[in-house]
Amino acid sequence: MKTDGSVSQVAIPEEILQRIESRGINRRDFIKFCMATTAALALPVTFVPKVAQALEDNRTPVIWLEFQSCSGDSEAFLRANQPTATELILDLISLEYAEVVMAAAGHLAEEAKHQALEKYHGKYILIVEGAIPTKDDGAYCTIAGQSAVASLKQAVAGAAATIAVGSCATSGGLPAAAPNPSGAASVSEIVPGATVVNLPGCPVNATNLTATIVHVLTFGKLPATDRLGRPLFAYGKRIHDNCERRGHFDAGQYAETFGDEAHRKGYCLYKLGCKGPETFHNCPTVRYNEGVSWPVMAGHGCIGCSEPGFWDTMSPFYRRLPKVPGFGIEDTADKIGIGLAAATAAAFAVHGVASCFRKGNPKDESKVIKED
Ligand code: SF4
Repeated sequence: MKTDGSVSQVAIPEEILQRIESRGINRRDFIKFCMATTAALALPVTFVPKVAQALEDNRTPVIWLEFQSCSGDSEAFLRANQPTATELILDLISLEYAEVVMAAAGHLAEEAKHQALEKYHGKYILIVEGAIPTKDDGAYCTIAGQSAVASLKQAVAGAAATIAVGSCATSGGLPAAAPNPSGAASVSEIVPGATVVNLPGCPVNATNLTATIVHVLTFGKLPATDRLGRPLFAYGKRIHDNCERRGHFDAGQYAETFGDEAHRKGYCLYKLGCKGPETFHNCPTVRYNEGVSWPVMAGHGCIGCSEPGFWDTMSPFYRRLPKVPGFGIEDTADKIGIGLAAATAAAFAVHGVASCFRKGNPKDESKVIKED
């Protein structure tokens, strides 16, 4: 590959590209997709031909179930106003059942689902969006008379791989927030013995979902995960580690209120409640909406939506994170801004705290900073 970003030297065999073109897929879009997905998976560029081969060989059946959700994950995945990675992956897989996009409805849709479950038993990728209500025999979400619990168990039993997308499917999300009236649970809680990869986020990032699918197609297995079942390629680093405002954090430059001069200048949002130091996700590098932006870039602090139970554990969203054990981060941040000399000195102190964030606790990477 050329260092100027040209795709001309990626060695995808010509016969693969010709077959891809014969399926109506633009070869340049395909090459770019393979490169971007390989990069998202943190694989070397030499894996691009292997990814291309896997995609060309497959029309892997995918079944997408949706339970207690706002359809935000479906929207995030399917939203497109120009040729996108998502459109490409939809050309490359075989989406057998997805309520949001399928033409069939009612009994026809149900029939399509059951045919797909039977025909592709043991072969399909199952994607699950939304939480699963458990109270009152699952009465709060039934589809064609079948509870979400029963529907999920049936689909997981025949899946080659199960991917839970969005915070509702991965940890209950908003439906499970206190007092959780429907007894909403995550996919893993309903099928505790099953291998499930979790892609939390509100909504899921489409790039991470396509990369996970491509990983399964390319290597025949789910990607390596952390202890919460989240792929390391997407959730291995904190938001804070790659945030474009990090330089301001290290320099002790903070927005104090929304709209103040520091906010307009793009200073750190820590004092406005940003949960980036506690949140593991690749938002700063992948971003949303075809890489256009992400919340912190747009001026709003991270609300920690990829962490378990974030509606309860990360709120109030505008309250700044309290102390790091052993370091007075809040005190330090408050002192900064008193004067230039004080700010310069304090910046070194903050930098020490920041280094602590980066080092973390090797035994528990997910919670270095504890709330009081
Ligand atoms: S506290 Fe938030 S805005 Fe500030 S550097 Fe960390 S992630 Fe970025």
